[in-house]
Amino acid sequence: MSNIRDEVIRANSAYAAEFGDKGTLPMPPGRGFAILTCMDARLDPAKYAGLAEGDAHVIRNAGGRASDDGIRSLVISYKLLGTKEWFVIHHTDCGMETINNDIMGSLLESSLETSSVDETGWHDNGAGPGSTEGKYLNWLTISDREQSVIDDVKRIRSSSMVPSEIPIYGYIYDCRTGKLIEVPGAAQAGALG
Ligand SMILES: [Zn+2]
Repeated sequence: MSNIRDEVIRANSAYAAEFGDKGTLPMPPGRGFAILTCMDARLDPAKYAGLAEGDAHVIRNAGGRASDDGIRSLVISYKLLGTKEWFVIHHTDCGMETINNDIMGSLLESSLETSSVDETGWHDNGAGPGSTEGKYLNWLTISDREQSVIDDVKRIRSSSMVPSEIPIYGYIYDCRTGKLIEVPGAAQAGALG
């Protein structure tokens, strides 16, 4: 039934056939930095930031938010694997800008099927039953794109587990142009502590 699975396995065979000497790469990122960014399918950090295998850590979640788990990964990134500079990269047209906790909770309460979106917002057309569990989560949605980058840089900067000498940069990736745009105020928020 799943053509996707076949496609992935076929692509992997081709990749492994050209794997070369990458099997000897060390675990610590060779270029010593980490990126926290959104899972959006249009973003390819390896391409937009020029990464090869072994170069850097890329931590992804919905929105590229500095969630507890995002910070967990960043701490592992420096404490065990030696990264020395971090980027927080959100993007234009992020799906997390189209919802809030109430909307997400209501959509899930209605059904577990995929919702649809139009110019009036999100709609759930599923038959249900859904789940009320979504009402108890903080979905870390985004209401102000630049502020969310600053908030995340600040949250990481202020963690007692994050060394003051790691600079944290804040950018927005423009989905229309592929460009990284520095967020005004993020440099100050992420400056060396
Ligand atoms: Zn996104």
